[in-house]
Amino acid sequence: MISRTETHDVVVCGGGLAGFAAAIAAARNGAKTCLVHNRPVLGGNSSSEVGVTPHGAAAFHAYARETGIISEALIEERARNHAEIYENGWTNSVWDIVLYDMVQQTPGLILHLNTDVRGVEMADARTIRAVHAVIQNAETELRLEARTFIDCTGDGIVADAAGCHWRMGSEGKDEFQEPHAPEKASKDTMGNSIHFLCRDMGRPVPFKAPDWAVKHEDASYFYEQGRIPKDVRGGFWWIEIGVPYDTIHDSETIRHELTRHALGVWDWMKNKDPKTMEACKNYALDWIGQVPGKRESRRITGRYFMTEHDVLNRTVFPDEIAFGGWFVDLHTPGGLLAKTSEPSAAVGGHDNEYDTFSEYSAMSYCGPYGIPLRILLAKDCDNLMMAGRNVSVTHAALGTARVMGTTALMGEAAGVAAALGVARGHGFDQLVSEDIAEIQERLLRNGCFLPNHTSNALASTLQGTKVTASSDAPVHGVAPETPGFHEGLKIWKDQPQYSIERLESRRGQLIATDGGRLDFIELCLSNSGSSPVEVDVVLLQADHIWDYRTEPGAPLATGKISVPSGGPHWVRWNLSLELPSGIEAGSFLRLDLLPDKRISWHAAQKVIPGHMAMYAISPARMRRFGNGHTLAYRISPAPRPFDPAQVLSGVTRPHRRTNLWVSDPAQPLPQHLELSWEKPRMISSVQLVFPGHLIREYHAYGPFYRDAQCPRDYRIEVESDGVWREVAAVTDNYQRLRRHSWEQSLAATRLRVVVTATNGDPSASIYEVRCD
Ligand SMILES: Cc1cc2nc3c(=O)[nH]c(=O)nc-3n(C[C@H](O)[C@H](O)[C@H](O)COP(=O)(O)OP(=O)(O)OC[C@H]3O[C@@H](n4cnc5c(N)ncnc54)[C@H](O)[C@@H]3O)c2cc1C
Repeated sequence: MISRTETHDVVVCGGGLAGFAAAIAAARNGAKTCLVHNRPVLGGNSSSEVGVTPHGAAAFHAYARETGIISEALIEERARNHAEIYENGWTNSVWDIVLYDMVQQTPGLILHLNTDVRGVEMADARTIRAVHAVIQNAETELRLEARTFIDCTGDGIVADAAGCHWRMGSEGKDEFQEPHAPEKASKDTMGNSIHFLCRDMGRPVPFKAPDWAVKHEDASYFYEQGRIPKDVRGGFWWIEIGVPYDTIHDSETIRHELTRHALGVWDWMKNKDPKTMEACKNYALDWIGQVPGKRESRRITGRYFMTEHDVLNRTVFPDEIAFGGWFVDLHTPGGLLAKTSEPSAAVGGHDNEYDTFSEYSAMSYCGPYGIPLRILLAKDCDNLMMAGRNVSVTHAALGTARVMGTTALMGEAAGVAAALGVARGHGFDQLVSEDIAEIQERLLRNGCFLPNHTSNALASTLQGTKVTASSDAPVHGVAPETPGFHEGLKIWKDQPQYSIERLESRRGQLIATDGGRLDFIELCLSNSGSSPVEVDVVLLQADHIWDYRTEPGAPLATGKISVPSGGPHWVRWNLSLELPSGIEAGSFLRLDLLPDKRISWHAAQKVIPGHMAMYAISPARMRRFGNGHTLAYRISPAPRPFDPAQVLSGVTRPHRRTNLWVSDPAQPLPQHLELSWEKPRMISSVQLVFPGHLIREYHAYGPFYRDAQCPRDYRIEVESDGVWREVAAVTDNYQRLRRHSWEQSLAATRLRVVVTATNGDPSASIYEVRCD
């Protein structure tokens, strides 16, 4: 063994998506950063070694996909990867290399792979001086000193070694009265899992399970308890084992048991199950993961303890730094060794789109909700942060917060906060009380989204800025046959979507307004009855696109429309309505139809940005309809909710407003957006946030995917001293966030972004322009 000491500002332990994002964020924010990871590839559970597909809020909420560092990586992966990522277990090395490439391209970031953190060296009872690690294949001990440490090991190894308080198991209902908490506190955690992948050989191939594999004989074990072998290609999250084992100390025993079971499940599917045998005939077991993914172990106690109540009530935290939106997804302790796989799956809620009305499913649907910085700051240590599944949340709250889109957002926030703390010499209390606005601003600047905070800096630096455009899009509505560009609507698959067009429950369609007059709205409806049917219609004002209240306020209008038998028909609702003053341009109305099973409201192929639909799952609650589809409607006069001033809203996705400039699709490209100032403004850089990539999760999209809405070719021009200069020209873009800077500041009176081509959409569109 040889020994070496390194000194850094920030050391991040564990290179899952939380640690990856934390390290990149810390380095980008000026801290000398080191990332230590005990596997040969980055990504943790998402890596090709484990193969869990990163999920997040967009699985349940349209336009809620996580942005910032995680979206840079995921957009890059889809654009570069030749392979479809259908399910868990399909991840290939392209993803590992995308992550590795991003780390390599980050100045100030040192990476140690295959390096296991073994312990800590304390400066005093509340301060870590260094972590001790071993490079497993190099007979080398590392002593890594730093000002701040971030524990992203999942198991909270650093926190444990530093003597921090942590919890493991389930809180009982008596402690926080959480709806999903079990009656009694216990040591139960969710389990570890491995995945397998099968390949079509084009001819029948045999499979013989080893004698030590589990022998499955009982169809009800699979089909009645939420373990549906629904695809011959593999990818089953329910190959999971936790209790009676300890997910940390019995990890190897669990791995062996999982291997026995995985082989047994494939044996069942291929050789015994009448429902799958034929389909499996030509399939061979190609890959079986041997690095189990862990869902749950230690949760380190932080300066706030987030419970399920915070999630369900969407608590507004002053120190909000991230958001979540996966459902409260708690698997049955024991997994394969228990009776059912997961309460929701056993009643059909997880995998069966028709069962989203069950009480359990309705209770589990949550978000988007805010996450506070304080759950990332260890209570018992003054220089230890954490991000990932080991943060300060209850077992029930971990049910939603553990998915990797969310953990990566936490990581990015921890990295930003750590770097800022180091630069300012501030401790955790100051980060929360004095620096939080700056942390939030930095996150927003990097294209992140916070449900309850918008960018103040953008508003103040752009005061006095006038925004105009060559055109902006009127919204006439969409018909079922209007061509669409959102590939992600077609491909995916098994999250609850409720694609039934029939009005089995209340249905709402968001419609962005410019606050003017509304003469009529027409809806594309069919009536399966033999005579006309009167349907109740309600026009409401929505606070934002995830305002799932069935009654968000007093209706702006109510009425009845008569739907003739058969169809589809365009049925008109005459409104002749002057919208009340105070409704902002780009904000959302909601048109609801009350239920009548004879009536269907047809979905359109094209999605108008932000214009998603929802359906009632309980008397008070709605949820996203379809995959973020727009239902067919026409409106007159056509509002113009995508006006150019939306690019200064400080929000880079549809939320309370569209927050998006869209050029008129009837006018050919190039189209441009122009910022102008009465007094010249010194500018040396421009940051642009482009649309696309938000409506669904990344693996809904095919190989080599580039979002149609995203500008492909564009240039930036600046007018200075009466002369126009081109300061940037880009071709072949598919990324959402682009920065351009030049050496000499220019005294600009006007700045133009000229979009000459998109990746498929006829309109040019932009969420945000920042000039510095
Ligand atoms: C089978 C399964 C299915 C799941 N399904 C989904 C899903 O579909 N989508 C989704 O988003 N989430 C899913 N989850 C949850 C999600 O994968 C985890 O919650 C998530 O990986 C947590 O991220 P993390 O970065 O905190 O931890 P991890 O991904 O576990 O990363 C932590 C990394 O730290 C490394 N490490 C540990 N100890 C040390 C040490 N001493 N020194 C150095 N490095 C160390 C580990 O090797 C690990 O790679 C699933 C989990 C499992 C197990």
